[in-house]
Amino acid sequence: MIQTIGVIGGGQLGRMFALDAKRMGYDVIVLDPQPHSPSGQVADDQIIAAYDDINAIDELGRRTDVVTYEFENIAMESIEHLETNGFYVTPGSTVLGITQNRLLEKSFVRDCGIPVAPFEAIDTIADIERAAKSVGFPAILKSVRGGYDGKGQWRVDSFEEAARALQQAGGAQLIYEQFIPFTCEISIVCTRDATDAVVSYPPSENIHDRGILFMSIAPARVDDEVVERAKFYAERIARALQIVGTFCVEFFVTDDGQLLVNEIAPRPHNSGHYTIDATPCSQYEQHVRAICRLPLSAPQLMRSAIMVNILGSGDGNHLAGTEDLLRDPWIVLHMYGKKHAVNRRKMGHFTMLFEGPATQKVIERAKAAHALLRWTDAPARR
Ligand code: AMP
Repeated sequence: MIQTIGVIGGGQLGRMFALDAKRMGYDVIVLDPQPHSPSGQVADDQIIAAYDDINAIDELGRRTDVVTYEFENIAMESIEHLETNGFYVTPGSTVLGITQNRLLEKSFVRDCGIPVAPFEAIDTIADIERAAKSVGFPAILKSVRGGYDGKGQWRVDSFEEAARALQQAGGAQLIYEQFIPFTCEISIVCTRDATDAVVSYPPSENIHDRGILFMSIAPARVDDEVVERAKFYAERIARALQIVGTFCVEFFVTDDGQLLVNEIAPRPHNSGHYTIDATPCSQYEQHVRAICRLPLSAPQLMRSAIMVNILGSGDGNHLAGTEDLLRDPWIVLHMYGKKHAVNRRKMGHFTMLFEGPATQKVIERAKAAHALLRWTDAPARR
């Protein structure tokens, strides 16, 4: 029987996961190098250690009944250590190995018979020459490992720009992808359990600002047929990966109705935050259920929702304007307990609930709500 859950990573995803796990009666132990981390603040205990500290990972395994993680850039050795020493860790090393490496991930998705942008592996300038011919321009070069929120990415329009990106990458392996002129980006959060049951939430439409998610609109404003195809692909990926837990598939939707997978995140996802307030069972609770061998719940929307990320600006550590924001009774605020609102750091989000489709007017209302918030030095007065 599972009583205690271990989480590698102390960020906001781990925090929202821990809050749901605690509500359901589980104990939670977090491992993160930063004391008093966003997850650590709400967990029963935090082991303060690096993600690749094998002694600490072993302690996490010994003190818990199942281990999971809230981000994928963790040392593979940590997950392998847990597996080879008889601890239950999920998602396991096979899933992590594929999703940590953009080349393996894209190849995996393509091998599932699911469309992806044409791509090539890049190690040398000769590879760039080859990719320039086979894939063409414009293109996006991405580091194969370790990039997130648009970091380690270069949009290139010529051979010279691509060569410069290769140099800037400093020897890291790259993937060269065709630039897709998409009409929108959508994502699906999906959960699979050990009995092979799979549930998927309605896709959300994701709007980015300089590589970081700004807003997710659920349900996405796409045709029903696109929704069905996206779900079909996500569920096929769930089964092909044999993943146990919540994960996310991001897609590009093109003008002519093509749906291409961009990436897979083997964990709950920023674009699925809306599920906390708009569905009976959040993506985090669904993850708890999957890894603790409980039945999965209905992923249905009770209300339409827009989730807006609240990023730091570097102008101070106090968020002003929440009194105005919360005058709208259909807005729910989530803050992550981070003390320093560094420029573009994810500090929190809010969800605005509404009925019916997301019209331009509703989207403008969410933007106006966001504009009420600003970071200041002075403590916000109550
Ligand atoms: P990623 O880290 O792969 O999620 O990329 C971050 C963002 O860059 C995506 O959400 C897209 O907005 C954009 N992007 C990435 N790959 C492509 C592509 N092949 N074509 C067009 N835009 C892309």
